[in-house]
Amino acid sequence: MAKTIWGEIAPFFARGEFRYPDRMDEDFLRWLHRLRTRAGVPFRITSDHRPSSHNAAVGGVTNSAHTEDPCSAVDLEVRSSRERFLVLREAFAGDCPDTLREILARVTLPEDLRTRAERALGDLVRRVGIYPPTASQRARYGVNAGTIHLDRSTRLPQDVAWVSV
Ligand SMILES: [Zn+2]
Repeated sequence: MAKTIWGEIAPFFARGEFRYPDRMDEDFLRWLHRLRTRAGVPFRITSDHRPSSHNAAVGGVTNSAHTEDPCSAVDLEVRSSRERFLVLREAFAGDCPDTLREILARVTLPEDLRTRAERALGDLVRRVGIYPPTASQRARYGVNAGTIHLDRSTRLPQDVAWVSV
């Protein structure tokens, strides 16, 4: 791996934060850096590339993305519902909302198209709950079933994504 990548993604990420820095995919690291820049919260890497033996030791599935080389996977620790939200929002929406706002401010558009674009920006979710499967869901559909809570309350905290245990 070219050593320049670490200069490119500093100071948010340093080699020492990765257990296997030389196994990481450079374009993935650049993407992670852009995500980190937009999210504005700490990205604490708890797992990056994992050789098969390491992956088995930590209970990773055998075809885990962590075992790929070069690797395009990390696990990040989030310490609050706000941090979780900001990481998820940036991962899903990326730079699209800011780019769209900039375009809207600068160009003349047919009114129906401007209305649609403004509505699209207003549609971005700000409150999400992620719940594991109930016993019944697990029995019927397996461990990947579960529930997602979405709401548009303006009274409750904005920009949060929580989980239940
Ligand atoms: Zn993972």
